[in-house]
Amino acid sequence: MASLSLKNVCKVYSNGFVAVKDFNLEIADKEFIIFVGPSGCGKSTTLRMIAGLEEISSGELWIDDKLVNDVEPKDRDIAMVFQNYALYPHMTVYDNMAFALKLRKTPKAEIDEAVRKAAKILDLEHLLDRKPKALSGGQRQRVAMGRAIVRSPKVFLMDEPLSNLDAKLRVQMRVEISKLHQSLETTIIYVTHDQTEAMTLGTRIVVLKDGVIQQVDTPQNLYNLP
Ligand code: ADP
Ligand code: ADP
Repeated sequence: MASLSLKNVCKVYSNGFVAVKDFNLEIADKEFIIFVGPSGCGKSTTLRMIAGLEEISSGELWIDDKLVNDVEPKDRDIAMVFQNYALYPHMTVYDNMAFALKLRKTPKAEIDEAVRKAAKILDLEHLLDRKPKALSGGQRQRVAMGRAIVRSPKVFLMDEPLSNLDAKLRVQMRVEISKLHQSLETTIIYVTHDQTEAMTLGTRIVVLKDGVIQQVDTPQNLYNLP
């Protein structure tokens, strides 16, 4: 649960390329914000700046009432889910989900509770002893989400999390993500190329082009829905 504020955020890469320009956006607690726009318009760069994986060239990023420009990624209380799930192949589903908490020296009982709770939400309880290669694409994607959930982050960043799945799984996972948003009451920022995902998941949609916000509106207004 968190609100975010981006004030005149810019990203100029070391080669001089301006990838994001004067990005201004207020995100309320529990919103589901969607970034859309053509490839190269600055969606991933913006997510990476919010996660702390890319330096903000100028402007301010606030999470709740804290300026976080110079806060380390691990101290931002943000979890990111990518399209290539990057699971550890030699670890079981359980250990994949427990890994981040083990690194943080979380007590074992607490880890166990967090993993089992996430597994329940994501319907992975019967798969905890499997290795990633013995899972379907949708199951792997759920494990990737489980790894993010166990940390109870304030903010979820998802960069095209469903783009590697087939059409049927995409629909299923879209429903899962929507449930997840409701049950966790978390703030989500989600990048997608898929208009159906944008329309059905988003509380608001941010349209980007050449690193500049073109439009910010509800799905209803943006797509003229009834
Ligand atoms: P920084 O400004 O963050 O130091 P660099 O220019 O050093 O960025 O590049 C960081 C990484 O991004 C390198 O791995 C590089 O290959 C990659 N990269 C460079 N230019 C581009 C580009 N136009 N699009 C995508 N990735 C790029
Ligand atoms: P999107 O996620 O919308 O496809 P990105 O944020 O990945 O766009 O990239 C925005 C622009 O910044 C692109 O033109 C890309 O080539 C460029 N870019 C990305 N990374 C780097 C980098 N490290 N150095 C220079 N340019 C980059």
